[in-house]
Amino acid sequence: MDFFQYKNNQLMAENLLVSQIVKEYGTPAYIYSKATLVRHWNAFNDALGEHPHLICFAVKSNPNIAILNIMATLGSGFDIVSQGELERVLVAGGDPKKVVFSGVAKSVTEITRALEVGIRCFNVESLSELYRINDIAKKLGKKAPISLRVNPDVDAHTHPYISTGLKENKFGVTVERAREVYNIAKQLEYIEIEGLDCHIGSQLTELQPFLDATDRLVILIKQLEQDGIQLKHLDLGGGLGVTYTDEKAPLPSEYAKTIFEKLKGYENLEIILEPGRAITANAGILVTKVEYLKTNEERHFAIVDAGMNDMLRPALYQAYMNIIEVDRSLERETRIYDVVGPICETSDFLGKQRQLAIAEGDFIAQRSAGAYGASMASNYNSRPLAIEIMVDDDKSHLIKRRASFEELWRLEALVK
Ligand SMILES: *Cc1c(COP(=O)(O)O)cnc(C)c1O
Repeated sequence: MDFFQYKNNQLMAENLLVSQIVKEYGTPAYIYSKATLVRHWNAFNDALGEHPHLICFAVKSNPNIAILNIMATLGSGFDIVSQGELERVLVAGGDPKKVVFSGVAKSVTEITRALEVGIRCFNVESLSELYRINDIAKKLGKKAPISLRVNPDVDAHTHPYISTGLKENKFGVTVERAREVYNIAKQLEYIEIEGLDCHIGSQLTELQPFLDATDRLVILIKQLEQDGIQLKHLDLGGGLGVTYTDEKAPLPSEYAKTIFEKLKGYENLEIILEPGRAITANAGILVTKVEYLKTNEERHFAIVDAGMNDMLRPALYQAYMNIIEVDRSLERETRIYDVVGPICETSDFLGKQRQLAIAEGDFIAQRSAGAYGASMASNYNSRPLAIEIMVDDDKSHLIKRRASFEELWRLEALVK
């Protein structure tokens, strides 16, 4: 459930009219609902209830510091994949002791910084990385907390670009190899084994792949016990899907219930989850203005002021996201439109063959845009990034302003 609903045929963001917000701030604009973010985070936190747990919000889904700050205030941990994300978490008031660091290519600088600020855990993705972390920890005179990211070889039944738990993917170490790597880790003086980690993919709309993965991890946990390695936590990653159109995504409570069934006898094993999309996707919309309507042969186009540089998902993953009118009280003819942006690429579309009642100058909103929207945006075609606005009840806050044109080339220099 989210707080973008119609009232008298006008789209609202909590208790504000979306049309009023964009008249004040301009378009293209991401609008987020704070109440929705809080509700979604609490759904995960409540689902795990009394079981020891930590919800680590996946920063890459939406790294705006205002969003990270809201998460930090709730007591959230964070799943990061770069030093940039770590610095954002710190600036936003996040607790480094609740940060887990994922990613296949952690650099020396990144590992050093993470050790200095004292993160909760490195999710190690290879033997080479394990040795590198051990070396750096030795130099700093610290012990590095680690878990191994295991690739359980399960098919997440999601888009191939966001499936990460198959043998052929670059992530983690195979479940067969993991026991051996743990035993190497046990011998390393500056490594502290904390847990076990996996993340099998994103936008999972069924629970079975999670359960298959958990089964395999439990077998490994038992083998490690035989080797005298006692784990403190099990990190099951993120990946819970959301409803973009009519998918039936499992609720966090349903997900948690099935995990508990798989972890009978492990009531003290802390569970870490790394949800991103399930918290942010439906807490945001992308609002754009219809610049032109045009008809070529039989096809109608709505040409809008947001493009693939603002929202890459349709172009990258053929993602389908709902597009709705901001004001349904206006008298408009209904037509089937391809909603396309200003970028000079044929893949520049927000949605194809959409039924919309619109005229030039109207606003439309792409729903479920809070995850992997602003975070994947670029300045392609030298377009300043879309602004971002946080709505809290009947107040709006500009949480990312539009860059000036000078700021677009501020980091560049002429050859003298
Ligand atoms: C992307 C990612 C997540 C978050 O995935 P969602 O599908 O947004 O929940 C969590 N953990 C890791 C390691 C990731 O790469």
